[in-house]
Amino acid sequence: MFATGSQINYFHFSRSKSLSDEENLKLFGKCNNPNGHGHNYKVVVTVRGEINPTTGMVINLTELKEHMQEAIMEPLDHKNLDKDVTYFADVVSTTENVAVFIWENLQKRLPAGALYKVKVYETDQNIVVYKGEESTPEK
Ligand SMILES: [Zn+2]
Repeated sequence: MFATGSQINYFHFSRSKSLSDEENLKLFGKCNNPNGHGHNYKVVVTVRGEINPTTGMVINLTELKEHMQEAIMEPLDHKNLDKDVTYFADVVSTTENVAVFIWENLQKRLPAGALYKVKVYETDQNIVVYKGEESTPEK
């Protein structure tokens, strides 16, 4: 397995359309500030597979970095999630959903089964892990 990280900055306003303003504020706290606010997150992507005997690598790191650039940095970095990213027009812009977005976007660029885990670090204490459909909570 191989893991590599990158840093993303984005701006958002978490709001669930099926909840009242009051419920939204209670649920999302500072993330429900109508003027939005920024986050600086670290994203770590883990891939798995056989080690290629020629390269000695599980995956071509240069290619992986390019895919991460297209799947993570270009759509999310320095963006206002709720306004700039179509995906978040109807999906609440929480860290959990950002992890799912990254997973889906990256998975289609990689060989089948290669993507193992997407980890988004909000802080050292709050970490979101997504491993696809059968995701289980993990620290
Ligand atoms: Zn927030």
